[in-house]
Amino acid sequence: MTKPRRYGLSKSRLTMFEQCPKRLWLAVHRPEEGELGEGAEAGFAMGHAVGAAACALHPGGVMIEAEPNLAAALAETRRLIDEGHPGPLFEATFEHDGVLVRVDVMSRDDDARWHVAEVKSSTRAKDYHLGDLATQVWVIEKTGIALASAAIRHVDTSFVLQREGDYAGLFADADLLAHARKVARGRPALVAAAKAVLEGEEPVVAMGDHCSAPFDCEFAGYCARDLPPGPEWPVTVLPNGGGKKWAAKGVADLLDLAEQDLSAKNARILAATRSGEPYHDRGGARAAIAQWPFPRAWLDFETIAPALPLWVGTRPYQQVPFQFSLHLEAADGTITHHAFLLTDGTDPRRPCAEALARVIPAEAAVIAYNAPFERSVLRNLARDVPELAEAMLSIEARTVDLLPVTRDTWYHRDQRGSWSIKAVLPTIAADLGYDGLEVKDGGNAQAAFLEAIDPATSPQRRWALDEALLAYCERDTWAMVAVARKLMGEG
Ligand code: SF4
Repeated sequence: MTKPRRYGLSKSRLTMFEQCPKRLWLAVHRPEEGELGEGAEAGFAMGHAVGAAACALHPGGVMIEAEPNLAAALAETRRLIDEGHPGPLFEATFEHDGVLVRVDVMSRDDDARWHVAEVKSSTRAKDYHLGDLATQVWVIEKTGIALASAAIRHVDTSFVLQREGDYAGLFADADLLAHARKVARGRPALVAAAKAVLEGEEPVVAMGDHCSAPFDCEFAGYCARDLPPGPEWPVTVLPNGGGKKWAAKGVADLLDLAEQDLSAKNARILAATRSGEPYHDRGGARAAIAQWPFPRAWLDFETIAPALPLWVGTRPYQQVPFQFSLHLEAADGTITHHAFLLTDGTDPRRPCAEALARVIPAEAAVIAYNAPFERSVLRNLARDVPELAEAMLSIEARTVDLLPVTRDTWYHRDQRGSWSIKAVLPTIAADLGYDGLEVKDGGNAQAAFLEAIDPATSPQRRWALDEALLAYCERDTWAMVAVARKLMGEG
């Protein structure tokens, strides 16, 4: 008979406790205060898809459902193990000392020894996975089952999809049983400490680096409410860790610094922030942009990089372009717009490469914002579509970058230390913002694409998603044109 668990500790709750005692306390006593960050839902969906793929590689495995409750899952696990079920078992459930664990995959070898695997969508075992695994090993072995291995089953990036939906070979195991057993020795003390925290009042913990490592804490908004209001222009707006260095020395307000103590770029940020007047080097911008011959092809890709490769010949997390927008500017200022988008679920690489080769003139300068990304997409297309390799590599060789030009010649204090196109655009052309669009950023675009290629999506919805994606990507390249014109003093 299972003892009632007062607080329902689990491996993920112990991981929370190790990150911050207050996080665990809030998760149990004030869960309604948590707010999931941007991308959290997509991360959960990817984790579920990867977990399902790992289970599908074990035909004949038994899923242990938590129905009608976890006590039933505990009893079913015990029954299957006691009756000598050959496994594998999915979500096998164990409890010890008030800590409940559910094991992703538990399999028995020919010598009747048990192996457990914790499935992760990451590309290697990470330090913070060890705590999860140690909790599992501790609980399982305390129930009397000696393990032969305990692995982090992660995605192997050398895998290449050979047949649609066939993920045999996608995973690699890092067996960490010996390490996990060592860490598990500290579990009784950790569990006792976690229980003591849960029985007490809300712990007092100051916010710090631990709030985002190893995970973004969902209670950051709640905890920040207790902080005194900070300066309007915190020193942390200085980019590339520059602000953090000053913060570590006790400086909170950017305006407390002096220009002569800063690098040239940071001094410009300070001066523009102090005066409210943007820094603008029109001459520098004109000189840089004048080197880009006409016609100018302003290019932006949208890509998807799924953990589970979708198309034959692709690897996990490979960036695959499903869309581009291109504004083609002639020497007389005439601009035409071209777009590519494929949402029928088929491999978009070849049609994307063909469309690029068709619409980008052989002599055009190709302009991107943060060009290393566009260049890498073009190199991958050259590799994956060999017949068009020459054309793709030619486009790549002609790709120049508007971002460093912007960084060197423009700063408005409302950018708050960022030169991303979405930070710069409102300071240059407020009417070109993304607020009125259904798809507002790259994460939205990826979610819209995945919804559009889902066979369950209706044609009407797919059409609406296509429209939203086209509007978003077009805005991105038109934004580049607008930024360049403003930099040159033409806007
Ligand atoms: S925001 Fe930071 S201090 Fe607050 S609960 Fe989370 S980790 Fe702890």
